[in-house]
Amino acid sequence: MSDIIQLLPDHVANQIAAGEVVQRPASVVKELLENAIDAGATEIKLLIKDAGKTLVQVIDNGKGMSTTDARLAFERHATSKIKTAEDLFNLNTKGFRGEALASIAAIAHVELKTKQSDQELGTLIKIEGNTIQHQDVTTTPTGTSIAVKNLFFNIPARRNFLKSNTVENRHIRDEFNRVALTHPSITFNFYTNDNETLNLRSSNLRQRIVAVFGKKINEKLVPISESTDIITINGFVSKPEFAKKKRGEQFFFVNNRFIKNGYLHHAVVNAFNELLPVGYHPSYFLYLNVPPNSIDINIHPTKTEIKFDNEHALYAILRSTIKHSLGQYNVAPALDFNRDSAMDVPYHFKDKKTVTTPQIQVNPDFNPFEKEEKPSTTFKKPNTTQWESLYVDTSEVDINNIEVEAQLVDQNLFDDSENEVKTRTYQVHKKYILSVVKSGILFINQNLAHQRVLYEELLTKMTIEDTSSQQLLFPLELVFNLIDIGLCKEIQSDLESIGFQFSSIVDDTIILSGIPANVNQNKLQELFEGLFETIKNEIPDTSFSQLDTIAKSLAKSLAIKNGIKLNSAAQEELLAQLFSCKEPNQSPFGKKIFITLSPEEIQLKFDD
Ligand code: ADP
Ligand code: MG
Repeated sequence: MSDIIQLLPDHVANQIAAGEVVQRPASVVKELLENAIDAGATEIKLLIKDAGKTLVQVIDNGKGMSTTDARLAFERHATSKIKTAEDLFNLNTKGFRGEALASIAAIAHVELKTKQSDQELGTLIKIEGNTIQHQDVTTTPTGTSIAVKNLFFNIPARRNFLKSNTVENRHIRDEFNRVALTHPSITFNFYTNDNETLNLRSSNLRQRIVAVFGKKINEKLVPISESTDIITINGFVSKPEFAKKKRGEQFFFVNNRFIKNGYLHHAVVNAFNELLPVGYHPSYFLYLNVPPNSIDINIHPTKTEIKFDNEHALYAILRSTIKHSLGQYNVAPALDFNRDSAMDVPYHFKDKKTVTTPQIQVNPDFNPFEKEEKPSTTFKKPNTTQWESLYVDTSEVDINNIEVEAQLVDQNLFDDSENEVKTRTYQVHKKYILSVVKSGILFINQNLAHQRVLYEELLTKMTIEDTSSQQLLFPLELVFNLIDIGLCKEIQSDLESIGFQFSSIVDDTIILSGIPANVNQNKLQELFEGLFETIKNEIPDTSFSQLDTIAKSLAKSLAIKNGIKLNSAAQEELLAQLFSCKEPNQSPFGKKIFITLSPEEIQLKFDD
């Protein structure tokens, strides 16, 4: 048999390597920014078009490349940053693998312009799919400009795999932020589709954090500083009273590199211990410096995990430093958090000492065949028999709201052959609506049911463009961090389609002149925060539709919470609305809305 093993041609090898290095436009952003920093740039411009799908360009004023180096830069394993294996243990550059440019050139159209300060003229190279198309001398300022166009032009499958512009822009913004926060002294200009989105001047760390996240963050920061033999720590943590229910901004930088480390994260959270209510997260921006030989640098090119030699010691130092700083800044515990009202009505039936008499309210005049409802009269059952004690405390179970013979719209559910079968609704635990139907008893989660109703309503509104909205007497100003402002601009037209009216979005402030009819003015900040959070956390692998995400998030924010008492009219209306939904079984987030207990199942609970 003949030999069958061959060496892969370079362009194939490069394409394979590219699969690891370049997952999406944001990966290109990261690599190009890091190269600019390694080249000693003090000013860096980032230009993005069409969420990086059309263009990612980085222009720096760094040291530039000679003509020979410019050509060599695109070869695999071509790097100026290490020469020997020992250098690996004393890295102070971001790159060292010499893979990025070769990988990028394998899957995009790349145009490089570069000039060193002692040269008159620079070099222009155009390269596509690893083949040099054009090389020339050119006039260009000192430094390097690399434009990466039409990413994945030769791998349609990868191109199709890219997410919506919102998602890709978010990834780009994340990478950009990490680099910008690592290097506050470097000036960055960020342009999206030819508009300057962000101008970060050379500054100190605190100013940089504020420039990236908006001025509101300034008052929240507590400085952290510690220096020991094995580590120096600088940076900021958020004051506990500003902790968020959602994971906020959490950044570790080790030797000027953004990293993730669950163990050290735990140290930070632990330092906050007891200062934070359960479910709240601190923000932090922590800059750690450790001897380069005490960390494992041989990390995957795109991974941000890192291993330390002496993790346990670092944990202890980090924790005590933060604890100390929080104490020093006299950060008081137990501040007023905007708690969910649901959290304030715990159900401690077991702990109840006294059982009060249940109050039953029925309407003895009720006539199901009568159209007009008569005012209901209340009638209390005399407190003479023993059976009342079988009932739980009425403050927990809303027997007050027994409503007899309510009619529901969805007849399929209720066997229409027998019109006299009537339903009743009860609210229990201020959370479930019980409804007795032919097939048994339904337990409906009120919050999830309402989410479904609102979700379908919002989707309809968005698609039929029913832009009815309530005008605000006074325009309302909401302040957000700049990332969220960016998101808001992206989804502005979708929000307008459901009744939000924006009079302007300037800097970190959104000014609203109108809101949808069912939205509570006082909850707007919360509502928008929830919305931005959902969009940011959108799971990239689910089929993505922007409108759908917005509708889901708003439905979740606006839905009646559990723990809220509903009167019988509200219970009925909710049920009627739910069962006229297209998918009454599942919440927009895929949770079961109700369960049914069939007569057989009930029977099984008895011994007879
Ligand atoms: P690495 O950064 O791992 O060395 P890259 O493929 O990213 O590998 O870059 C290859 C080489 O090209 C670098 O080592 C550097 O010498 C040169 N280079 C890349 N970008 C720039 C830049 N913006 N300015 C100057 N030199 C650069
Ligand atoms: Mg590099």
